[in-house]
Amino acid sequence: MTNAAGAMLPLSETLADLSEGEVLARIFPRLPSADTELLGPGDDAAVLSAPDGRYVVTTDMMIQGPDFRLAWSSPHDLGWKAAATNLSDVAAMGARPTALVVAIAAPPSTPIGVIEGIADGLRDCCEALAPGCGVVGGDLSASDALTLAVTAFGDLEGRGPVLRSGARPGDVVALAGRLGVAAQGLELLFRLAVDADGIPDAELAAALRARHPEEVAAQLAPVPPIDRGPAAALAGATAMLDVSDGLAIDAGRLAKASGVGIDFDRAALGENVERALGGGEDHGLLATFPAGATLPEGFRALGVVTDAAGTILLDGRPHGQGGWDPYRGWDGSVR
Ligand SMILES: [Mg+2]
Repeated sequence: MTNAAGAMLPLSETLADLSEGEVLARIFPRLPSADTELLGPGDDAAVLSAPDGRYVVTTDMMIQGPDFRLAWSSPHDLGWKAAATNLSDVAAMGARPTALVVAIAAPPSTPIGVIEGIADGLRDCCEALAPGCGVVGGDLSASDALTLAVTAFGDLEGRGPVLRSGARPGDVVALAGRLGVAAQGLELLFRLAVDADGIPDAELAAALRARHPEEVAAQLAPVPPIDRGPAAALAGATAMLDVSDGLAIDAGRLAKASGVGIDFDRAALGENVERALGGGEDHGLLATFPAGATLPEGFRALGVVTDAAGTILLDGRPHGQGGWDPYRGWDGSVR
């Protein structure tokens, strides 16, 4: 390999060229520490303070193939999205994210720069969306498919957790964040960033991202409204979850847990109602608030809670609860 001046460059170092200790020494300086950290990386486990006496914990895994394609996502995108999806689940409990632990398995031929890019994405996402949340530990292993597993912790700050099961008939259904934009990005990628054989193509993806930066970034590096989770809890939210698989299917989960129904106002769902109801991965926060409550900044009303248990309605009419399921794929009923 040569640079523009024709000089020989060393081939990039891969994980196989380095020991695990050397890889960790390359990535830990790139990662943010946590405000709650009493003991950081370097011992057998980290030690965190838990001011509330309780803590929220969640985990989410991303695997090359079903969850992402290296032709489309940069290493920075992968680190960002792995952090964002976990932070979103913490926020959906009404908690403030405090710390992440990260496990990465990668082929030995992976350039160290890929792992460094993932670390940079983890850091930048924490700093942007959950300041004070840091990466306090992790693990490295080898596998055929690049895999990121993140576990996140959160502080309830003295409040009770906001569960899926607390919605009551008459509550207002409200959302912070966007609907259908990440799904639009995924549709564009599958339509315009694959070669003639349908294989994801990096150059086509880069060109598409330049033309549709908002939609493609929403899919590859989403910006969920993390600080709106604690804000919703403070405002008296009765139930909440993050919209990961699609508004209709996730609203159905909340309705089922609460033993209620939800009636969405079509006019509140934007121009493309099917995409708003069926598109996943925007990681907005769907919450219910007592009737008449002042919605916290960033939330907008989408409908009302009804007493028709398990029923998702659109302007009073029945609607499917389709969306993304990792084992079934897309349920076409709402697309
Ligand atoms: Mg969730």
